[in-house]
Amino acid sequence: MILWDAHSHFPKNDGHSIYNAEQNGNGGRYHSVGIHPWKARNSFDQKKLKDSLSDNLCVALGEIGLDKLRGPDLYIQIDCLVKQLEINETFQLPVILHNVRATNELIALKKNFPQQTWVIHDFQKIRTFEALQKEGIEISIGQALLHRKDLQDFVNQLPLDRLLLESDEHPELLQEVYQKVCEVKNLSLLTLRDQIVENFKQIFKRWQTGWNEQN
Ligand SMILES: [Zn+2]
Repeated sequence: MILWDAHSHFPKNDGHSIYNAEQNGNGGRYHSVGIHPWKARNSFDQKKLKDSLSDNLCVALGEIGLDKLRGPDLYIQIDCLVKQLEINETFQLPVILHNVRATNELIALKKNFPQQTWVIHDFQKIRTFEALQKEGIEISIGQALLHRKDLQDFVNQLPLDRLLLESDEHPELLQEVYQKVCEVKNLSLLTLRDQIVENFKQIFKRWQTGWNEQN
């Protein structure tokens, strides 16, 4: 069964995963583009980013974000993030966010971009969920679910229509992540898959268009 993958650093050819393309080119796949906070810089080619976001196969801006443990100084990261978010105001693509210890900063920034849909990828900090939800920020969960009992308990309580799943750096673990959700929520894989497809359609609007065209 093909499983829908909200964020992957490895290209797959199933048409159901969002490949984080960075500078690698997208190879004709659904993908996201953006400057990762570890690579944040004072200036970048804004025209190139606009062109990339105009591509119909580009379904999201990302992975962008903030990381207090790694990468350049936070003010450089914030500046680079804000510039990308401002460019996205014309596109209104969903945003895939990397967040390490910067929930407060992201929540503050979100108020300036109320129309954009943001997704915190590899969500792990359960105690931040309520604050994120208040701002309408979505979450995507990956392999951390496999070994974190607290995250499993959290997923058990989470309404299914709030959930995205991803492989991130671990393409081989996507199936296990799905199976863990099924186990925790006592669902069949088919039921879960169908709901995740709906969630994809809600969030990644361009991808939906592409999906209809190609299937
Ligand atoms: Zn990632």
